[in-house]
Amino acid sequence: MMGSRQEAQGALFYEFSIEAHVPPDHMLRSVDRFVDLTGIRQHLAPFYSSTGRPSVDPELMIRMLLVGYIMGIRSERRLCEEVHLNLAYRWFCRLDLSDPVPDHSTFSKNRHGRFRDSDLLRHVFETVVARCIAEGLASGQRLAADASIIQADANRQNSTPKSDWQPGSINPEDAPRAVREYLETLDDAAFGAASPVEPKFTSHSDPASQWTGARGGPAYFAYSTNYLIDTDNGVILDVEATRSIRQAELGSVRTMIDRVNYTFGLLPERLIADTAYGAGSMLDWLDRQRGIAPHIPVVDKSARKDGTFERANFTYDAETDVYTCPGGRELKQSRRTFTKPREKKADKDGMLRYRASKADCDTCTLKSRCCPKEPARKILRSIFEPSRDRARAIVQTTDYVISCKLRKKVEMLFAHLKRILGLTRLRLRGPNGARDEFHLAATAQNLRKLAKLLPVPEVAS
Ligand code: SF4
Repeated sequence: MMGSRQEAQGALFYEFSIEAHVPPDHMLRSVDRFVDLTGIRQHLAPFYSSTGRPSVDPELMIRMLLVGYIMGIRSERRLCEEVHLNLAYRWFCRLDLSDPVPDHSTFSKNRHGRFRDSDLLRHVFETVVARCIAEGLASGQRLAADASIIQADANRQNSTPKSDWQPGSINPEDAPRAVREYLETLDDAAFGAASPVEPKFTSHSDPASQWTGARGGPAYFAYSTNYLIDTDNGVILDVEATRSIRQAELGSVRTMIDRVNYTFGLLPERLIADTAYGAGSMLDWLDRQRGIAPHIPVVDKSARKDGTFERANFTYDAETDVYTCPGGRELKQSRRTFTKPREKKADKDGMLRYRASKADCDTCTLKSRCCPKEPARKILRSIFEPSRDRARAIVQTTDYVISCKLRKKVEMLFAHLKRILGLTRLRLRGPNGARDEFHLAATAQNLRKLAKLLPVPEVAS
């Protein structure tokens, strides 16, 4: 028998518990166990006035933002609608059925004010990292670093070529917020001061973003999100927003390693990264200044394609500071003997020159295979060569084979960031906008990780 037609009836009273309607295996229920925002009121207290109208609860706003990033809701306007309608989202935000949802404009006001002034999103991120460490998910021993390019909210049509770009003519008084942030970060090593090379185009709406064709397709404006992860379980220990150029990304790894050491007392045994991080200065910083084993392929441009002897065919003796060529002759930095020994100076690229004697090369039977177009052979040696040698030795070990597999974890996190969290294009502009988005996304990824690795214990029936 067909039942009677369902008619909506506006009941006056309901007995309804949101708690009972959120499934036990819902993502937000698992995540909620690890969200500890008890400290944020105290953290924000100096940034609120003691008079005036009460503000929207900052914990509610952070919970709503976490819902947005965990569930991949990119628009704040849509996030407010979803929280209004979705029971699980209401439950996570501690909103009852009749509680009003804040307007989307509240996020913008707080973000540009108290949240940034107090560095609240950083505080929330570090609280979650501390929880991951406390739960035993990160030992801090084998870390991996990498960067991923995220498209900025800026279009090619609204940009100026470098020949016409004049930052000195911008009046900060009537410039938009993202432009003011660009002017403020011109001397910042992660942005303006990362490289003296001017970008081909500069965006009008977000001038701090980098015009990049690094992905091989059409170029666009972008920022880089830099991750330092613990490879035990893929926990993100630190995150940094930079311009999408190599110098800024290398600098961010140093910043993150020192910050993780300062904040959590972690000093890794090794750092795993790809060839992009294999510059001599980076390897030397890790190896000699921080005592961290660089599990990084060395950038080496000494290979030759014309069949002549490469630098690897010459043997270096550290004690005498001399190279010996395949013909058994010595290559030295200087052949003159000074009464007062002179300091050996490297060129601007940090390279020392070792030369063979012209007399030796002139009479050598191997000259055609060594230096057929030069009077005598010369070899360049980096001032960072001892650290480069140690990195080369590490590459030969079985530990390095393991490190290569562990490195995939950071790449998987970037894939997850883009495919699951939907962070393919930034919504906020300026270095601070990128920083906010990257911190919230990394916090969401760590919370999802905690929920996945430490599931809700099943209640015995
Ligand atoms: S050409 Fe000069 S440097 Fe090269 S093998 Fe002969 S002596 Fe040595």
